[in-house]
Amino acid sequence: MLKTLARKKRQTSRIFAIALPVALWLGQTLSQAANHTIQRGETLGIIAKKYGLSASALATHNGIVNPNKVKIGRKLIIPAKTEKLTYTIRKGDTLSTIANKYKTTVEAIAKANGITNPKIIKPGQKLKITKGSIIKPTKTKPVAITGSALHEINRPRIRRNRWKHIVIHHSADSNNSIRGMEHYHRRVRRMENGLAYHFVIGKGGHTTNGRIYVCERWKRQIRGGHLASSALNENSIGICLIGNFEKEVPTAKQKASLKALVTQLRKRTGIPYSQVRTHRHINPKPTICPGRRFNLRSILST
Ligand SMILES: [Zn+2]
Repeated sequence: MLKTLARKKRQTSRIFAIALPVALWLGQTLSQAANHTIQRGETLGIIAKKYGLSASALATHNGIVNPNKVKIGRKLIIPAKTEKLTYTIRKGDTLSTIANKYKTTVEAIAKANGITNPKIIKPGQKLKITKGSIIKPTKTKPVAITGSALHEINRPRIRRNRWKHIVIHHSADSNNSIRGMEHYHRRVRRMENGLAYHFVIGKGGHTTNGRIYVCERWKRQIRGGHLASSALNENSIGICLIGNFEKEVPTAKQKASLKALVTQLRKRTGIPYSQVRTHRHINPKPTICPGRRFNLRSILST
């Protein structure tokens, strides 16, 4: 009887000797990495910024030789951003609450501090902790839409499933005015509903930099005239930024307003992020609009 017990004890400790390192290793591996799938318009720089890393660190970690050549859909491993600190255990703490607080695991804390039984900890005991093993993308503060624009954006009643896409254009000329574009679309292009877009974002000059102009087609919830397809015009909200983004980049205020407008429109219509597109990417006919220096994903994600 005594003999059997002793054998059992030996077996248990042998199993424990294998299971514990596996658990520790698993805990560490899980806490070290996150994945990110590269989206259209994203650069390594944009992704790195999102996770608080440098582009070169991200490239090195993923064995990328040429950071300018990354393919859409590629999965990146995001290295953990860690920070070492010392924590003094307080009454009522458990390793699990401490691990949660510092975004790490019980196993990692136990290993770093030579703790064999995580249930036995004492108030006053000092722990070495590596903070930040689980990473989440940092959220940037949304820009608020100012003035009467928000009221005008929110006023129309929107039919369910009315809109499927948001399409971004440039006006191709920094000097464009709302009145000039309206005249061109109504008189020259002979569009009976006038200005082809639902929204225009000003740049300065004849328009106000960053101002969101809410146009008739949005107020009346009618089809746009900004795409070379009747079906797409029927269900696509058109936003035009004043400027020629073949030659120049949008102003900071234009970018902030575009992001805020897209956010607000998506909230109201339920259009998914993937259906916020540029004219070039959605149009059935080739076009350079909104210009090669316009980076939609970068604007929407920063
Ligand atoms: Zn266009």
